[in-house]
Amino acid sequence: MIPKTLNEAVAAMEEHRGEALLYAGGTYVHEQRERGALLKIKAIVDLEGLGLDTIENGGDSIKAGAMVTLNKVIGSDAFRAAGFEALVQAAYATGPDQIKNAATLGGAVACWVPVIDIVPVLMSLRAKAVVQVARESRTIEVGDLLNGPEKTLLGKTALISGFLLPRPAPGSRSQFKKFRRSASDWAVVNASASIRSDGAGRCVDAKLVVGARADGYFSLPRTEQFLIGKQIDGKALAAVPGIVSTELTLTDHFTASADYKRSLCGFLLRDAIAGAAKIDVSQARDAKGVDRHG
Ligand SMILES: Cc1cc2nc3c(=O)[nH]c(=O)nc-3n(C[C@H](O)[C@H](O)[C@H](O)COP(=O)(O)OP(=O)(O)OC[C@H]3O[C@@H](n4cnc5c(N)ncnc54)[C@H](O)[C@@H]3O)c2cc1C
Repeated sequence: MIPKTLNEAVAAMEEHRGEALLYAGGTYVHEQRERGALLKIKAIVDLEGLGLDTIENGGDSIKAGAMVTLNKVIGSDAFRAAGFEALVQAAYATGPDQIKNAATLGGAVACWVPVIDIVPVLMSLRAKAVVQVARESRTIEVGDLLNGPEKTLLGKTALISGFLLPRPAPGSRSQFKKFRRSASDWAVVNASASIRSDGAGRCVDAKLVVGARADGYFSLPRTEQFLIGKQIDGKALAAVPGIVSTELTLTDHFTASADYKRSLCGFLLRDAIAGAAKIDVSQARDAKGVDRHG
């Protein structure tokens, strides 16, 4: 079925409770079908007719509909603004063009696969998801939607209608990095750094998020606190991997051991911070002048 309003879509989900599937770009639904995960599904609710494919440049935030594709993110003027760099980079890094043409922001978040590239970026940009639960519209931080109690809503009765991305304050920049085993593979780990610096190059705000395959997405408050108030220079960058490693508990996966993923997260995040701060990462040196380049 192709509902024309959010209420119709929610009503369809309720009518076929537990046996209905929301369909956005369909790229992950096809993976689910291949795995036999859709055997109980009796109704497909196609979100195409809801008009959720626009990007609105509002006052202090940008509203992107859940059906906005990754290629639309890449081509959007609104996301050319300083501070949104990581969003465009992550969209660009997601699979081949066929996937970028079809995959949507809502589908990327709702498929809840660790590790999706756009998710740590939305978290580091402090994006909120607008979620329709029954007849009620709730605004939930993307991190809470995936990691908090709200995560049980996804895949059941919740429909993401869009995202609110706060407009980055002056002095903000962001950067996304990913590590994969081959050019066509999904990330083993990825990292997104959003930082804001004052006129003297001191960090005044930082939101840092990493994703690790099979484990999920993690904010890194200890590393953020370490950076805030500091000049982001080679010495500060060199300390980042060590602090990140104290904040993460990961599990072994066939693509990489827990220790390797933790180490990768630290170095990728360091590189993302360096990129956001426009510092050459080769300057990363510890107090003894030792290059800790990963
Ligand atoms: C060949 C290939 C390569 C890929 N490479 C990468 C990669 O390099 N990096 C990466 O990050 N990802 C990669 N992906 C995964 C891709 O990001 C996801 O498949 C895609 O984001 C899902 O979006 P979709 O719009 O196609 O969602 P769908 O496939 O339509 O839906 C996915 C799930 O989310 C639910 N859903 C969809 N929209 C909503 C909504 N608005 N509200 C609530 N629930 C919803 C659906 O019911 C379904 O369970 C790849 C996928 C493929 C097939």
